[in-house]
Amino acid sequence: MAEAAASGTPATTTTLTNAELFDRGRRVTPGGVNSPVRAFRSVGGTPYFVARGEGSSVWDVEGRRYLDFVQSYGASILGHAHPAVVSAVQAAATQGTTFGAPTEREVLLAEEICRRVGHCDEVRLVNSGTEATMSAVRLARGATGRDRVVVFEGCYHGHSDGLLAGGGSGVATLGLPASVGVTRSAVADTVVVPYNRVPEIGADVAAVIVEPIAANMGLVPPAPGFLEGLRAACDAAGALLIFDEVITGFRVAPGSVAGIFGVVPDLWCFGKVIGGGLPLAAFGGRGEVMEQLAPSGPVYQAGTLSGNPLATAAGLAVLAELTPDVYPALAASAGRFAAGLTEALAAAGLVAQVPVAGPLVGVFFGPEPVTSYAGAKASADTGHYPGLMHGLLDRGVAIAPGAYEILFPSLAHTEADFGRAVEAAGEAATVVAAN
Ligand SMILES: *Cc1c(COP(=O)(O)O)cnc(C)c1O
Repeated sequence: MAEAAASGTPATTTTLTNAELFDRGRRVTPGGVNSPVRAFRSVGGTPYFVARGEGSSVWDVEGRRYLDFVQSYGASILGHAHPAVVSAVQAAATQGTTFGAPTEREVLLAEEICRRVGHCDEVRLVNSGTEATMSAVRLARGATGRDRVVVFEGCYHGHSDGLLAGGGSGVATLGLPASVGVTRSAVADTVVVPYNRVPEIGADVAAVIVEPIAANMGLVPPAPGFLEGLRAACDAAGALLIFDEVITGFRVAPGSVAGIFGVVPDLWCFGKVIGGGLPLAAFGGRGEVMEQLAPSGPVYQAGTLSGNPLATAAGLAVLAELTPDVYPALAASAGRFAAGLTEALAAAGLVAQVPVAGPLVGVFFGPEPVTSYAGAKASADTGHYPGLMHGLLDRGVAIAPGAYEILFPSLAHTEADFGRAVEAAGEAATVVAAN
């Protein structure tokens, strides 16, 4: 370490190419990646291996620079390697990285989350969004004494068995396993219904879990009345409403989007932004529900690395930067960016939609705004996304290698960055439209 520092050579420097690393990776890791979409399967080609990131850019191992709209699928909001986060993590690391005993920053981060999210009295820190949603559903079942959970087609709640349910196709169905290895019984109590339509909620329903702005089937904002309708239906049935805000939380607003829509859920799931780029997520809600959780109550949940000292340091550092004034500014840039993209794609002759919700930006191909998974799938089925994505990548702009992902402008993106991305999108779209 001392030697590397003295020579000024970062430990991660490699002489290997993207293709060589991908080949080697595939020998020791399924598909060469640790999360499937990164393998570029749905868009073709070889993934770029990131050597480093700074602000709005990443550099791959071959030294190519990309203007990055992936931003770790929303985990990064300040841009890469923000100095405040870097120094907070460095300082924390020198004091020890995990103890298995409570630490001050866990209290501070929980206080900060609760301060920002009205009606959220308590949170439990976990390590991933998957853990947050899985545990929130268990808690809801424990608190209500009921089994059934309602999910919406096209929403993503991580990869726990009970929430990996497919089905739907426009009608309410009992869940079918959405992956090999998920048993029928694991999803037997999961009901899948179409997004943006209020379903009937029976007396056997423990919880309805929803992305209040859907951002894992492209970007699909809630229709007027949808979230209000869910709240009313849950209240009438005695079911809990869970907002999965792993993407929207602390990105669209200083805390929850509940304030924007005027609908308060019983439980929230947060992740991505609040970990500052480290593995951290949380679920929380009303005190009397949260107090059902062990050790206060009978619902078991635990984690060796939960509330990790590095992750809480990063989370606190990010939230300290996220003052209320940054949100309107980020939303305004995203709005201008979306307008620019809309114009560029239209000028290129590509029939497309560029939905925007606060700082979130999506791209759909087709003449109509998309309101549900059926529309999102029709857009993906046009087959235009891979061409647009690779056309952008060839021009030094990275968007996610999957048609159901969205773009994540960060606070590090400048007007010049947005302008460059719009220009690249216009050029890439011209090629797509011509094919
Ligand atoms: C990313 C995401 C998750 C899963 O989070 P992981 O940290 O990847 O496990 C859950 N819900 C939503 C809405 C997400 O976007």
